[in-house]
Amino acid sequence: MSKIERFDLALVGGGIMSATLGVLIKLVNPKAKIVLFERLDQVALESSNPWHNAGTGHAALCELNYMPDSKDGSLPDPSKAIAINEQFQVSRQFWSALVALGILSSPESFIRTVPHMTFVRGEKDVDYLARRFEALKHQPLFAGMQFSKDPKEIAKWAPLIIEGRAQESIAATFIEQGTDVDYGAITQQLISWLTKKGVQVETSVEVNNLYQYQDGAWQLSLSGEHYQRIVRADRVFVGAGGWALKLLQKAGIPEINGYGTFPVSGHFLRTDNPEVVAKHQAKVYSQAQVGAPPMSVPHLDTRVVDGKTSLLFGPFAGLNPKFLKYGSLLDLPLSIRPRNIIPYLSVALKNFDLVTYLIKEVTKSRKQKIDGLRGFVPNADPADWTLYEAGQRAQVIKPAKGGGVLQFGTEVIASRDGTISGLLGASPGASVSVSVMLDVMSKMYPNQMAGWVKELGEVIPALGKNLNNDPKLAKKILADTAKALKLKA
Ligand SMILES: Cc1cc2nc3c(=O)[nH]c(=O)nc-3n(C[C@H](O)[C@H](O)[C@H](O)COP(=O)(O)OP(=O)(O)OC[C@H]3O[C@@H](n4cnc5c(N)ncnc54)[C@H](O)[C@@H]3O)c2cc1C
Repeated sequence: MSKIERFDLALVGGGIMSATLGVLIKLVNPKAKIVLFERLDQVALESSNPWHNAGTGHAALCELNYMPDSKDGSLPDPSKAIAINEQFQVSRQFWSALVALGILSSPESFIRTVPHMTFVRGEKDVDYLARRFEALKHQPLFAGMQFSKDPKEIAKWAPLIIEGRAQESIAATFIEQGTDVDYGAITQQLISWLTKKGVQVETSVEVNNLYQYQDGAWQLSLSGEHYQRIVRADRVFVGAGGWALKLLQKAGIPEINGYGTFPVSGHFLRTDNPEVVAKHQAKVYSQAQVGAPPMSVPHLDTRVVDGKTSLLFGPFAGLNPKFLKYGSLLDLPLSIRPRNIIPYLSVALKNFDLVTYLIKEVTKSRKQKIDGLRGFVPNADPADWTLYEAGQRAQVIKPAKGGGVLQFGTEVIASRDGTISGLLGASPGASVSVSVMLDVMSKMYPNQMAGWVKELGEVIPALGKNLNNDPKLAKKILADTAKALKLKA
């Protein structure tokens, strides 16, 4: 019998999360023996693919859901928006260092400046946006944000949203330091570097089962096109996107008990018409419809993929029980366990607005989708726009008092002994992949982290520092990363 291959770390899934964790580990421990398994025939084909997500560098510069309005008309609380921006600055620092180290190639291949705007209609939201601006304008990480209610000024920032618009109460904020990011390109480049560093990257290989040996290490059962085999790894990271729930359930760790996944597919309208594309250089986010999940706020985006610029509008939600775009219709039914049935039922019962919203979305005709687009681009010509299906969002259903809650963030699940961890959830997603993977490292390598501070500090200079509380440092990091990534400061 052939000997079982042994690894220090097995990464399940070839998306941005596994790729980022692999690079972090190789930087702090070059000798680590790592393997990465991807079930599809290439990496970055699921949510990390550039056409399966919106490519926004989420820094809360424009997304209202990261800073909900106050209940009493006072200034909304900026703390969540600041926290997300801080996390994005960690990614910017890391990517800057990786460009300098030659791990990522030219910044233009994966990131560019695309201003971020918030655009709202109607007195109530105009008032909210004005107060949001007041709460953010002096925050160091939001430096340079502008606010206007004047259509002429807004037309200078985004002409398409003003042309043909009837007179109504509108307002917008504009901030130049926003970004459009190709997370697929980042994933591919990171994994290509890992391969050069001796990481065994195996595509078309699915991890079917996980079993823990008595000494704490894990056995991974694998199937490829023509074979089945097992390998052994001291530690396992389940970066399997929507399938993380299923694999963590198979691993049988108690920490996953009670969790579920609520899948929502995303659809976008896209135009490549150069005349239309040339008139819009921004990511414009607006207010969500009643009941819409926070990640479904409508936005009109400049997208650059493989050097070609397009515009996207969406997302429109779709109902689909798959947890991955290339997943199975049985994903949702087979994820139900005695321990999560109450959270599943309680989320279905408590989120009536969401259920109504989804039914409305699913039954929307193309004409109704174009009407939605015309709320942003009054003169939109339907002939310019085609509808396509992006990735599958697997939102977290979390056990909570009284049943369960639907959570819109990401959640790291780790076993008590730190030998296995996985990531559930989708938002703010790829933008914050670096800080989320640092969190994974601290759970999987609690005793080694302190010894890795020097190496980590070399790639994330302001590691552990709160930039927004230190205006001088915030300015320096924003300027340094803008220079390294060829972004507008
Ligand atoms: C519609 C939409 C819009 C989004 N917009 C944004 C945005 O604008 N900005 C942003 O920052 N984030 C956005 N996100 C979120 C972001 O795309 C994800 O957070 C991120 O790509 C997740 O990366 P991942 O590596 O965890 O998962 P994925 O990229 O999904 O990778 C998981 C991989 O694991 C593989 N896999 C699964 N099971 C197995 C198995 N058993 N064995 C082997 N391989 C397996 C899959 O094939 C896949 O390749 C969006 C997501 C969606 C769906």
